[in-house]
Amino acid sequence: MGVTLAPQALETRVAAILQAAGSSAAEARQVAANLVLANLSGHDSHGVGMVPRYVDAVLEGGLQPNTAMRVDLDAGALLRVDGCRGYGQVVGVQAMELAITRAREHGSCVLALGNAHHLGRIGHFAEMAVAQGLVALHFVNVLSRPVVAPFQGGDGRFGTNPCCIGVPLAGREPFVLDFATSRVAQGKMRVAHNEGRAAEPGTLIDEDGRPTTDPGVVVVPQARGGYGALLPFGEHKGYGLAIACELLGGALTAGGTWHRPADSARAVLNGMLALVIDPARLGTQAAFEAEALAFVDWLRASPAAPGTEGVLLAGEPERQARAQRARDGIVVDAATWSEIQAAGRKVGA
Ligand code: NAD
Repeated sequence: MGVTLAPQALETRVAAILQAAGSSAAEARQVAANLVLANLSGHDSHGVGMVPRYVDAVLEGGLQPNTAMRVDLDAGALLRVDGCRGYGQVVGVQAMELAITRAREHGSCVLALGNAHHLGRIGHFAEMAVAQGLVALHFVNVLSRPVVAPFQGGDGRFGTNPCCIGVPLAGREPFVLDFATSRVAQGKMRVAHNEGRAAEPGTLIDEDGRPTTDPGVVVVPQARGGYGALLPFGEHKGYGLAIACELLGGALTAGGTWHRPADSARAVLNGMLALVIDPARLGTQAAFEAEALAFVDWLRASPAAPGTEGVLLAGEPERQARAQRARDGIVVDAATWSEIQAAGRKVGA
């Protein structure tokens, strides 16, 4: 049976497992809070369901608890940071905090972060920047399993490479666009598979490169031992953006690109190129605020298309989910919950 838990209760249980897996109490809390915030935001794919994978990665040595970032190059507005395989929820936040400070000092900052363990919901980092009135762009690659097929390709060659853009809107809630460049996030296929739901047509190909709606093709080994693949969103355009994320997040950061067959390692490493810009230092603050608000108001005046809830701005669905789930609790499906419990038993929690 699935469970419904208040955010705090879920965070406490998850933190206990992460602590038993070797994290300090503070690190366990920080990672657990980040995962629960992803669930609260409506992204169960990047929430507490990641815990079994993190525990396995720690046990295999691919994820190093209690590890801080290492700054390899500090040239003021240019930062190159090694995540040292520490929790992305920790080293990613450390790196962004430094980049935000530098963007304030210099007007902008280019952050190249490599070798971070799973950064989770990339919107988290954009939210850190927009909370301080800064614009942030993030290009991220994923080193775990090549689960996304190139446009017109027949098997998985790269990861779900997320892209995220955060823009503060004066006196209003920010624009936070944050998405995987696969048609859906891999984790959403895990959730669908666990819940026995089919995927939308056009989302997946099977082990033989043929279209399928079975999310299991990217979750469990198939008849011949291989996997199917997710398709990129937006045909050749989304595919191109996914490749840009690999080239910027993987190659330019030196974190590494994916160019080998799948292995069974449980660690998920992310590379992230982040650009943080201070509109005040750019000298456009007043125009930026006025023009952005004028545009958003104009956009929102569009009449709702029949049968829809009307025009939303990126970031809004997550805020709506947070309000609803903070009130009603977070539902963890039965399969995910039993996997989390099994992970807890593995480390004696
Ligand atoms: P998604 O398909 O749900 O899209 C989310 C984005 O679209 C959000 O910015 C949301 O505000 C916006 N949006 C949704 N509905 C909208 C509407 N009606 N109008 C306007 N905007 C709307 O997200 P996804 O692709 O499933 O990604 C989920 C999460 O997974 C993201 O947080 C992403 O960072 C994360 N992710 C992480 C990794 C990693 O390796 N760390 C890999 C892939 C994805």
